[in-house]
Amino acid sequence: MSSVPVAVVTGSNKGIGLAIVRALCKQFPGDVYLTCRDPGRGQAAVAQLQQEGLRPLFHQLDIDDLQSIRALRDFLKEKYGGLNVLVNNAGIAFKVHDTAPFAVQAEVTLKTNFFGTRNVCTELLPLMKPYGRVVNVSSMVSSSALRGCSQELQQKFRSDTITEEELVHLMTKFVEDTKKNIHEKEGWPNTAYGVSKIGVTVLSRIQARLLNEQRRGDHILLNACCPGWVRTDMAGPKATKSPEEGAETPVYLALLPSGADAPHGQFVSDKTVRPW
Ligand code: NAP
Repeated sequence: MSSVPVAVVTGSNKGIGLAIVRALCKQFPGDVYLTCRDPGRGQAAVAQLQQEGLRPLFHQLDIDDLQSIRALRDFLKEKYGGLNVLVNNAGIAFKVHDTAPFAVQAEVTLKTNFFGTRNVCTELLPLMKPYGRVVNVSSMVSSSALRGCSQELQQKFRSDTITEEELVHLMTKFVEDTKKNIHEKEGWPNTAYGVSKIGVTVLSRIQARLLNEQRRGDHILLNACCPGWVRTDMAGPKATKSPEEGAETPVYLALLPSGADAPHGQFVSDKTVRPW
């Protein structure tokens, strides 16, 4: 078994994820895994970084596929005996002008951004080694979507005692409410992406609390973040940040020094803790 530290970035064949891998290859003292759902796209991205003189490793990972997540889990367990850095970056967003019915957009978006990310966490968080760092890439849109929720929902999502099961129930209810076209009446905002990222931010707060309760002496730090508005296939060419600039806050959180005890369980943008 290798004692080399290991970092994994999900959805890192392009965009912000690729920029995170590039930065980690330069700054993280260990093996860095570029992962993506399509091995062809993944190997092409690895080749691109190799041309820059970097040495990322590759593993397939489709966060929509539990078998794929478990194959990565077993690989990491066997080869490294755990994991030091996990960046949950993979995500999707429908384009503003997409004509797919809102209920379809809600189901598909929540499936990857919330349920897929949660499944990765369920399988990989138990592998985190002491002083591990977990970064869940959310979005500022989670904050604006939160403000668009009913007072009752806002209270639930800001609660310091909400459980993962309660959060899963609410995310499932959102998808069901869109199918019945009653989501607005039920207090939801009109954004599937926004609700999926509320899920990611709240999940991060819950997981940080569980780490405090269950692994207090292990000094693991887990946070959600917004990369900013970044020029990628998702956000388009008019966005203000380059992928490298978008990677800065996730990389800062992934490389928090071993002496740090904060931030933890926070929502961070531009390396600054934001109110939730
Ligand atoms: P992007 O260029 O579209 O990249 C998204 C990445 O996620 C791609 O590698 C994609 O792989 C991967 N992915 C999607 N579904 C996946 C799945 N089921 N399993 C594994 N990988 C999957 O978007 P980006 O802008 O870099 O976004 C990265 C993260 O930042 C996302 O979580 C996004 O919500 C968040 N974010 C972005 C912005 C922004 O302005 N760009 C702002 C706030 C937050 P494929 O190539 O196979 O599709």
